[in-house]
Amino acid sequence: MPCQIRRDRRATGTAGYRKANGIHMEVVLQNLTKKFPGRDRKNRSEVTAVNGINLEIPDGELIGLLGPSGCGKSTVLNLISGLLKPTEGQIFFGADDVTKLPPENRGIGLVFQNYALYPHLTVRQNILFPLENLKGKDKLSKAEMAKKAEEAAELVQIDGLMDRKPSELSGGQQQRVAIARALVKTPKVLLLDEPLSNLDARLRIQTREEIRRIQRETRITTVFVTHDQEEAMSISDRIAVMKDGVIQQIGRPQEVYDSPANLFVAKFLGTPPINVFAGQIREHMLYIGSDAVFRVNGVSDGEVYVGVRPEGFVRGETGVFRCKLSRVEVMGRDISMVCENAASLNPAVRVIVGTQDERGAETVLVPEGSEVRFALIPRKVFLFDRKTEERICFEEN
Ligand code: ATP
Repeated sequence: MPCQIRRDRRATGTAGYRKANGIHMEVVLQNLTKKFPGRDRKNRSEVTAVNGINLEIPDGELIGLLGPSGCGKSTVLNLISGLLKPTEGQIFFGADDVTKLPPENRGIGLVFQNYALYPHLTVRQNILFPLENLKGKDKLSKAEMAKKAEEAAELVQIDGLMDRKPSELSGGQQQRVAIARALVKTPKVLLLDEPLSNLDARLRIQTREEIRRIQRETRITTVFVTHDQEEAMSISDRIAVMKDGVIQQIGRPQEVYDSPANLFVAKFLGTPPINVFAGQIREHMLYIGSDAVFRVNGVSDGEVYVGVRPEGFVRGETGVFRCKLSRVEVMGRDISMVCENAASLNPAVRVIVGTQDERGAETVLVPEGSEVRFALIPRKVFLFDRKTEERICFEEN
């Protein structure tokens, strides 16, 4: 089967995301660009933080904006919120062009990494704060405000802590208050910028599940910014992987993992990371170093990068790919074989072996320093162009 690389695919199934009170909202970014003036003494040239981004976020979707530090994720979020004005391009919420609207008129809820709660106010007062600032026809009675604050607090499960000050709460609880405060005005779009970064590992997982639950219950279109691929993959309907202000690929998390568009995306997703080797195609045969791995069709002869997911190796005496075992790391559910191979471009080759079957369990008995052989699972092997680093599709022969 020829491989298909989907770089930009609208999520299916979101048509059913309809909220009873009608606050669902599609967000569309059209050719969005943001340039900042160069202020560094040594470099006065402009910084292009976001470079011609096109993105459609359907009603009720949770999209994860993912990428390394400095790739432009927060800038995209701040453009959607209206905190920044684009240099070029447009932003639509449904049919409305909101590009020139100030943040307060966009109907957004914002949550940042550092909670940003008022320390002298109680949880209740913090949640009520955005409602107290409503003016004109939007102004609410005291009873209406109290009801909305209670509802938001219940949704994030902090209704028992309403009279405490932020300093009397854990980090996770403070972040829930920040989320309740963002939800209290029933925003059309929820924007979360690294909301879990200040939490410890256990709380991060718990809070990310909470965010997913709240988003599923409210069906508010949500943009979630993170540099943590596991976090983005675990809670997003779709992820958009960014590099240097450009979206590299958009798709469902599994789809992007299984079919990366380029070497950057392949390397960015997955723990442990993908193994990358210097490889070659010669007369329809794929070589890693001198090992003839398997036959491929549809690829011309030449040098390639070969990416192999850590779960793409099957140990066995007849395996064609050879490496030297450095050590075995037991991690409970899985065992990691850390190996050396001259063609590897990573410091070590990492192979994940499940402990379920006998063959996996006996891995711990393989002597360190010995040669181990693996067959490679073709759907876990990706080829990339040496120059462009774009993925090359192949047919296994
Ligand atoms: P991080 O994960 O570290 O927050 P990010 O992906 O969110 O990174 P942005 O904060 O969007 O990245 O920044 C993108 C680029 O734009 C970076 O090179 C950054 O230095 C630059 N940048 C951001 N804000 C400004 C600004 N106000 N003035 C000048 N350059 C800026």
